[in-house]
Amino acid sequence: MRVSVTFRIVAGLVLLTLSTLLIACSLKLAPNLNRVQMEDRARYCEALAVSSSLFLTQGNTEALKGYLDAVVKHNPDISAAVLRQQDGSIFLQTGKTDDLTGTSAENRFNKVRIELREENHPWGQLEIYFPVENLGLLSLWQMPMARYITFVVACCFLGFYLFLRKTLQSLNPSKVIPGRVQEALDTLAGGLLILDTREQIVLANKTIARALRSNPDQLQGQVVSQLPWIQQAEGETNDELPWTRVLREGTTHKGVTLSLESNAAVADCFVVSCAPVLDDLGRMRGVLVSFEDVTELEKKKSELREMLQALHESREEIQKKNEELQHLATRDPLTSCLNRRSFYEQMETLWEQAQKQGTPLGCILLDIDHFKSINDNYGHSTGDLVLKGIGGALMDLVEEPGVLCRYGGEEFCILLPDHDIDQTDQVAERYRLAVESLEFDDLKVTSSFGATAISLGAENPQDLLDEADKCLYAAKRGGRNQVARWDRVPRDMDFSEPIAREPTPAQQEPAQESTEVSTEVAISLGSNMECLAQMIDAHDFTGLSCIAEQVRLTAGRHGISAIAEVAGQLQQAAEKADVIEAIYLTNRLMELCQSYQSLHLQHTVD
Ligand code: GH3
Ligand code: MG
Ligand code: MG
Repeated sequence: MRVSVTFRIVAGLVLLTLSTLLIACSLKLAPNLNRVQMEDRARYCEALAVSSSLFLTQGNTEALKGYLDAVVKHNPDISAAVLRQQDGSIFLQTGKTDDLTGTSAENRFNKVRIELREENHPWGQLEIYFPVENLGLLSLWQMPMARYITFVVACCFLGFYLFLRKTLQSLNPSKVIPGRVQEALDTLAGGLLILDTREQIVLANKTIARALRSNPDQLQGQVVSQLPWIQQAEGETNDELPWTRVLREGTTHKGVTLSLESNAAVADCFVVSCAPVLDDLGRMRGVLVSFEDVTELEKKKSELREMLQALHESREEIQKKNEELQHLATRDPLTSCLNRRSFYEQMETLWEQAQKQGTPLGCILLDIDHFKSINDNYGHSTGDLVLKGIGGALMDLVEEPGVLCRYGGEEFCILLPDHDIDQTDQVAERYRLAVESLEFDDLKVTSSFGATAISLGAENPQDLLDEADKCLYAAKRGGRNQVARWDRVPRDMDFSEPIAREPTPAQQEPAQESTEVSTEVAISLGSNMECLAQMIDAHDFTGLSCIAEQVRLTAGRHGISAIAEVAGQLQQAAEKADVIEAIYLTNRLMELCQSYQSLHLQHTVD
């Protein structure tokens, strides 16, 4: 049970008063009320005896009896009166005398006996009986001294209590603040503490008390630094709490982030500002601390951080997949040389460059000799191995800015910028020797080359390729394993004469083409995903909406409804500038895109 401070102080003071009274009694400094009472009784009895003697002298016993009856009846302090004659016989008796005999009563001095004389002769005695005093609580109360002390103690208690309550109220710092001010402070959305110079809480409003899982009264007197604060200052090594710093430096300190230790996933978090409280002379009297609860904000921030982290991870994944897809889309999967489609793109560029700058451009077409027989004799996998080996050797040989591609089944095409026909011929010869020198276990292969250059009259890229093709025909006709150059091929040569040729690219690559079509979609989606992530980073909602629309249309066109649907939602979120929803949907889109790409990669590898 909590006993209030006021009550304890009052109890102490009353005990002190009581002790003082008892000491005064024992030193006989206080009036002896019992003796006063005894003396009063004695005087009263004497007066009674005088009156009784008078009645006896007059022989008026009837009047005497009436007188004594009246005395006993009207005086509650007297229990009985007895007139006893000289021989001990009772002459007259009034009041109760049953319990008045016996030694115990006499010993307690509750009987007064006075000798009566009739004309100088002893007549007998007048006995006056006073009520027997039990030693119980009631009898104690009847003792004047006890009543006196009880009264003093009760009055002191009441007086001290009222006085102290009033005094302590006016001393209580929180009560000094008018109720309406406290109420106003309690309605503040932010927390507020007033500290004294020892960092003790002098005043707390309800907001901060609620945050500290306490109430303003309980917080009073607590040392604020002893609460479980966690300093969150990023990059700050100084872990001094802000109010300590204000007390030390005497200047205002703002924007310190503090959180409270807790088991919750996100601890209560506050932005704290402290200002010194100065008196009229500018001396530090305490600190005013305000708390802005940013827990919700922190929660949102941490969720956002997690989402952005997921976004960046997805983005890296997408980038990786995009690179893979880019490689797949531009390269031949068996030899890793450029495929025909991207070769054509590059050829266009190199052709225009050469035309613009008037520089030469050489072209070599290479075909492996009797490759069909390799397949037939050693199996298709050995054929693949040979293709891979020759492709790898050529990749090592073709130097930048030269371009190498697998042109068809066992045909390769090489473009050589800044190479005229002679230089092209020389390079082709070098390649021929290189192929010839290759060994695949005990297998050796040769290849035939057609070499041409734009200086020989080609009007467009296709012309150049046709010339190289005709040269190749000539090289085959000439006995294979040789280089034929366009300026030396007889103009009257019949190129329609049958000669074992490789299958046409149109026949060979349908599967690859169809793969590339969906690869294109996968790549386009992948680059769109990268753009989306950039837009999110830049908070560019207009851009985000545009890209989301593009994704929606692309996916819709190719029947990828899941991606189209999420892209549509993302477009709406971007239009509403709802950042959290946009991040969430971008993440979702990236996941879908990744699975599409993975599916597609798997399909391509198969
Ligand atoms: P030539 O010297 O006249 O060029 O004779 P060839 O046998 O090399 O010519 P042909 O055009 O008759 O044969 C080409 C062969 O290449 C036919 C085809 O089966 C094979 N081929 C095409 N692509 C591949 C491939 O990717 N792997 C394997 N192993 N063989 C392929
Ligand atoms: Mg061949
Ligand atoms: Mg061929």
